[in-house]
Amino acid sequence: MLESTFLPWQQETARRWLAARERMAHAWLFHGPAGVGKARFARAAAASLLCESPRGGFACGECDACLWVRHGNHPDLRLLRPEAVAQAEGQPEAAGEDAVPARTKSASREIRVEQVRELETWLNTATHRGGSRVVVLYPAQALNAISGNALLKVLEEPPEHTLFLLVADALDRLLPTLVSRCRRLALTAPDADAAAAWLRAAGLAEPGRIHAYLAAAGGAPLAALQAHEQGGAPYPAWLPRWLGALAEGRGSAIAAELVPELEKMPASEWLGVLQRAFVDLMRVQAGVGVRYYPELQASIGAGAARLSRVAAAQHARWLATQQRVANHPLSPALFVHSVLLRVASETPAAAR
Ligand SMILES: [Zn+2]
Repeated sequence: MLESTFLPWQQETARRWLAARERMAHAWLFHGPAGVGKARFARAAAASLLCESPRGGFACGECDACLWVRHGNHPDLRLLRPEAVAQAEGQPEAAGEDAVPARTKSASREIRVEQVRELETWLNTATHRGGSRVVVLYPAQALNAISGNALLKVLEEPPEHTLFLLVADALDRLLPTLVSRCRRLALTAPDADAAAAWLRAAGLAEPGRIHAYLAAAGGAPLAALQAHEQGGAPYPAWLPRWLGALAEGRGSAIAAELVPELEKMPASEWLGVLQRAFVDLMRVQAGVGVRYYPELQASIGAGAARLSRVAAAQHARWLATQQRVANHPLSPALFVHSVLLRVASETPAAAR
C-alpha cells in the first residue's frame, strides 16, 4: 500500500498548488533535494485530483477513487518508476533489517522506453471514470536518452484531460527540452524542528541520534528515516571504512574492496555521500566543524590532515561534475573504482 497523503510540511504548498489548478499546465515538474518527499507530494496530488469528494481540495481518503489510489489500481492513474523503485516500495513498511530488499541486478534502475510505450497505449484509450487522468513519474532522472525522448514526444502533443506530474532531484540531470515542457514547483525540506518531530512520530527509535540522521541527510526527513531503517546508522557502513583508509594513506587500496558494495547502489547515492564527506573534510581543514557526519568527526579530522587543501577542493569540484554524468555508467563497477581511485589522491592533480 502506498502512502498518498501530503506530509505535514507540504500541506500549505499543496493547498496553493491545488487552488491554482484552473490555469494549470498539463505537465508539472516537482523538484528539490532527495528525501524531502517529492514523490509522496506527487502521489498525494494525484489522489487529490482523482478523489470523488475532496475535502478542502485534499483527497478524502474514503471514496472508491481514494481506495484504488492507495492500493495502486486506480484505472486513471499511472505510476511510472524504475522496477527497482517499485520493488522497494512493495516491501513491508518499516521493515526490520533482514527484510530490507536485496537490490537485485535484474531490477532496472531506469525508466525504460517500453514503459513509456505502454503509457502511450493507455493514453489512447478513454478515461475509465470519465474525468481526468494522471501520470506520476519518478524519479525523472531515471529516464534514459531513449525513454526521455519518447516521453518528450508525448508531452509535445499532450492528450486531453491528462496531467503529468514529474519528480526530479536535480534539474541539471534532465533533458533540457523535457524541463522546458513542464511548469516547475520547488519542494524543500522542513525546518529542523518540524523534521525532528516527524521523525520521532515515524518511530525513529534513537532520539539522541535524530540530529545525526538529519545532518547526514542534509535535513531531508525521508532520507533520514530511510537511512535509519536500512542501516541502523546515519551513514552507510562503507563510509567510516573509506575514511579510515584515507587517514592511513590506503585510499587507493580500499577502492577495489568497496566496488562490490557500491556498484549495486545508484551512482547518485554513493556520489552524494562522498560529496558530503568532502564538504566535511574541507570544513575541518578550514577550522570549522563538520556539517553532515558529526559522529565521524574523528576520522574526518584524520583524513583532513592527510589531504592537501587544494586536492580536497579539487576532488569536491570533480565529484559534482560526476553527479551530472553518472546517471547510466556503462560499467558501474569500473565507474566506482575509477572515482574512488581519483579521490584517494592526496595531492592536487596537475592540469586536469
Ligand atoms: Zn476520496
